[in-house]
Formats: sequence, structure tokens, C-alpha cells
Amino acid sequence: MNDVLAAFDDRARAGLTALYEDLHRHPEPAFQEERTAGIAAARLRDAGFEVTTGVGRTGVVGVLRNGEGPTVALRADMDALPVRERTGLPYASTATGRDADGERIPLMHACGHDMHVTWLCGAADLLASGREHWRGTVLALFQPAEELGAGALAMLDDGLLERFPVPGVVLGQHLFPHPAGTLLHRAGEVMATADSIEIRLHGRGSHGSQPERGVDPVVLAAATVMRLQTIISREVSPLERAVLTVARLRAGHKENVIPDEASITLNVRTFSAKVRDDVLSAIRRVVEGEARVSGAPRDPEFRTLSEFPLTVNDPAATERVAAAFTARFGADRVREMEPMMGSEDFGLFGTRAGAPSVFWGVGGADPDVYARAEQAGRLAEDVPGNHSPFFAPVVEPTLSTGVEALVTAALAWLR
Ligand SMILES: [Zn+2]
Ligand SMILES: [Zn+2]
Repeated sequence: MNDVLAAFDDRARAGLTALYEDLHRHPEPAFQEERTAGIAAARLRDAGFEVTTGVGRTGVVGVLRNGEGPTVALRADMDALPVRERTGLPYASTATGRDADGERIPLMHACGHDMHVTWLCGAADLLASGREHWRGTVLALFQPAEELGAGALAMLDDGLLERFPVPGVVLGQHLFPHPAGTLLHRAGEVMATADSIEIRLHGRGSHGSQPERGVDPVVLAAATVMRLQTIISREVSPLERAVLTVARLRAGHKENVIPDEASITLNVRTFSAKVRDDVLSAIRRVVEGEARVSGAPRDPEFRTLSEFPLTVNDPAATERVAAAFTARFGADRVREMEPMMGSEDFGLFGTRAGAPSVFWGVGGADPDVYARAEQAGRLAEDVPGNHSPFFAPVVEPTLSTGVEALVTAALAWLR
């Protein structure tokens, strides 16, 4: 294994640092990652991979066949977020773009997907140049639109498992606000399911001075939001993990016009299929019930905006990864993590391929800042998390740790 990583020298690190800063400066929204995909494809080609672009719209697949042995898929996601960067970094993004509805949005790599792409480019290079030290096939997956929960599905629907070697194991890693240089693993459920739903509530518009002539959807929406908050607190066991957030509530244009509709957008996260089903059907019951109580002229309409499956790490494969990490990095840099309420579509690759998958975390926070914040009990305030406009991982040792972790985990199968 050291034979493969021996080529990871200062020159390789400097090249990847430049790549990371360039990707950070040029974030692209979900399903528009053309520039990023082009860079990843070119690097894979240079390293000797067979490369296919446009898999699931903007996805890139690289295949490196190196004799008899297991097929190991390594996945990185590429999309950025509609966040206005406020890190003040010299390579901060000032980019803007348009979302799927054509609305102008600021853009930032606020979830670390630029680092994920850099890690996979670095690992692909090293595995290719050190190919005399292992046997098997490496499948490099650069995935679009993770933040929409749509990119993994798009690649699978575009024939990922029919057109390319089927992986025997799927590996992925994510940047988290833990101390840089540390690795976080967990067997079993590691990230939550997530369902985003938009609900249209119908009322009957009228003059603000004559509410008796209408059905006020603002009051209906307000009552619905309050009642929705009792689902987790009153219908889900306190021993379960679940959260329901109404993050958007829209109605009306003018103070003296009762509008004829209101809309609610909500997000639900759980850690089991049963709790998810229960919560989703409770939402329907509450929303339809409140509409009826209000005398709404029409039933509410539900639209699913996104669905993320539960992310479950195969226990045996996780143990194999954790053991390889401990051997390479030492026990003090390898930690078990708590399950997270965040969500991922990574799990779909393993589920569809019928292969075990492992998703682990790589710390990116300045270790001194982290230690001080932890001591002061101010982690939430002083260490910006994923999706924050201040999210600013330190480049090293974050970059090197992620590259080495990906190579180390892949070799746990390929050796
Ligand atoms: Zn994210
Ligand atoms: Zn992410």
C-alpha cells in the first residue's frame, strides 16, 4: 500500500491544491457541473482511465481495468449550493448562476464537493500510477446533483450498472466540520432519510374586511404548521430520531386581500423506513384534516421535491475500512461517529448494485480552532458547518488525508 502512496509527493500535493482552489472558485449548480466534469474527465484520461461523460446528464465514469480482482467504485459528488460565500478566502467564489427555474442564484462550494472531486482525482492518479501493486478494476464515479438527491439516480437510470463493470463494493467520503486530519466511520445507519414536500392549500379569496365571504388560507396554513409540529413530538417515540421542519410558508400579496391559496414546503428526516412511513402518512392526515376543518373548497395538493434514502454502511465492509485506516493513520486519527440527520443519495449505488457500501467522514476544520471551540462549548457557533456561507476547510491536512483515505480503503479490496 505504501508503494502506491509513495508517489504522493509535494509536487502531487501542490497540483491538487491548485485544482482544489480552482474548483472552489468555479462552483456550478446541480446538473450544470459541465466545467467540473470536464476537468475530472481530462484528469482521468491523462491517468489512463477509459472515460465516459454525460452519464446521468453531467456525470463522469472512469474505468481502470487492471487484471483479475474485485471492482471497487469510488464516488465523488460535484455540485455546489446557492449560497453567497462569506469566508473571505483568497480563492473565495464570487460566481452566480441560474437554478432550474431560471432564477439568478449565488454559488458556493459550501458542502465540500470541490474537495471530494479533488480527493478522487488524486486517488485515481495514484491508483493508476501504482497499478503494478494491485489487481482488479477501479470505477471512478463523479456524480452530479447530490444536493437535489437526484444525481445518483440519474446515473443509475442512464445505465451505470449495464454499461460499466458492476462494483463489488462502493466507497465514498464526505467533508465534515471535524478536526482536519481525522477520519470518522460508523457501521449501520449513518445518515438519515430525507423527504421534501411542497403542499398547496386552497382557500377562497376575498376582501380583507370581509373574511366571512372567503376561506382564509393564511389561517389554514398557520394552523397546519402548528399541528404538523405535533407529529414528531406526539406520534413518534422519543427513542427514535426524527425531525420535521417547515422551512417555507408563502401566501398573499397585499394586506387587504385574502389570497386564495397558500403553500408550505417541509422537510422530514428519519432513521427508519417505518418511522418515515408513519410520519409521511401523518403529514397527509394533518394537512387534509386542517383543510376540511377550515372548509377549504378543494383538497390540498402534495408534490414531492426530493427523496433521499437511508445511508446504511455494511458492517463487515466498514470494519475492513476502519482497520485499514487505523493501520495507515493510527488509532488517534480514526474515530467512530454519531449518526447524522444530514442525508445523501450515495447509498443508492450499493443498493442497486447489490453490493456493500461504506460512506465515511473526513474532518476539515482547523484543529486549533476546533479544540478551542470544543473547550468553550462553542462548536456550533465557532466551527462553521456544511452549507454555511463561512464553511472554509483548511486545505491541509484535509486534502492529503482524503486522498490517502480513498486509496487506503480501495486497496483494502484491491490488494
Ligand atoms: Zn450538502
Ligand atoms: Zn454534501
